[in-house]
Amino acid sequence: MSEIYIAKDKFPGVLGQVMGKCRVYGPVFQGQYHEFAQLNKPEDVDLGYRNTRLSPKALFHPQAEKMFDFSLSKSDPEAGILKEAHKDYSPRVVLGIRPCDARAFQLDDCNFDTASVKDPWWIKRRETTTLVGLACNEPCSTCFCTSVGTGPFDKAGLDVLMVDAGEGFVLQGVTPRGEELLAGISVGEMVSATMAEKAENLKKSAEGSMGKQFDVELIGKNPTLDLFNASFWDEVQFACINCGTCTFVCPTCWCFDIQDEVYKEKGSRMRLWDSCMFPLFTFHGSGHNPRAQKLQRVRQRFMHKLKYYPEKYKGGVACVGCGRCVNQCPVNIDIRHVARLMAAPCICPT
Ligand code: SF4
Ligand code: SF4
Repeated sequence: MSEIYIAKDKFPGVLGQVMGKCRVYGPVFQGQYHEFAQLNKPEDVDLGYRNTRLSPKALFHPQAEKMFDFSLSKSDPEAGILKEAHKDYSPRVVLGIRPCDARAFQLDDCNFDTASVKDPWWIKRRETTTLVGLACNEPCSTCFCTSVGTGPFDKAGLDVLMVDAGEGFVLQGVTPRGEELLAGISVGEMVSATMAEKAENLKKSAEGSMGKQFDVELIGKNPTLDLFNASFWDEVQFACINCGTCTFVCPTCWCFDIQDEVYKEKGSRMRLWDSCMFPLFTFHGSGHNPRAQKLQRVRQRFMHKLKYYPEKYKGGVACVGCGRCVNQCPVNIDIRHVARLMAAPCICPT
């Protein structure tokens, strides 16, 4: 594993060089919030951000994506044939992504890239993207990544981990793809012992500031049916207005719907984010809805993330502790509180 140090005054030049070779995305301040967007010039990126409002999942799983075009014209011999819409799979770097969001992509791989199901668009984007993470020196008060198996300096989902050490950045290669990127940076210096110690101290300080919010092992020990039938769901679901915000901002929520948009004799097949919190999400063509009640939908969201997913995939819970749903739920439903309820030893119905 190689490590280099880049002084901050040299960083825009390095970024400019990388942008000359491939597309680069990063956190950009847009209006009131930071969002991941393609950089037009090195100065566009703002690495002083805390967290983006939306997760960067749209980089791999866009909110609205055209899958195919088709014609409905009676005079068109190819009418009704689906033609794949153009997509840009040229190499790109995503700079400044938080370790929790990068870890989320690994969890999402379980849905898009499995032995039996291969989503070509997700896979191609994953294959052509280099993730350069920015360690969280100061996690937000709503972050709880260390409680769900990741951390503010976690390298697991990254190609390169970058640490803001004050006067410069310490960059550590994690994967061969990340090593290749670092090898192309000519102004990188060796990491001094002082800088290495500083980066290590920042890591200890960030991890130490978070504490343990709940114990996922205890949730794992509680029987699924007892959790499913627990009485606390009534309290948890009471205030929910089924707005779907929690699922749209979440990096590990991957659900989508497919719709055909038609205008005159042309059409497009679109893939659009959907949410298990919406009443129509599970509405069957027969008219039956297995999750017609709000309680069923709220319970599903938490059970999927904290119980069903770890039981099915054995790779930890489907939450990376980014805190977005905690921050942005309009009625303050807090997954940390729900996780503590699910971890309690006695969760049987009263
Ligand atoms: S459930 Fe909430 S805290 Fe967990 S990854 Fe999703 S948005 Fe972040
Ligand atoms: S953000 Fe809050 S109110 Fe909206 S669907 Fe999620 S839990 Fe319900």
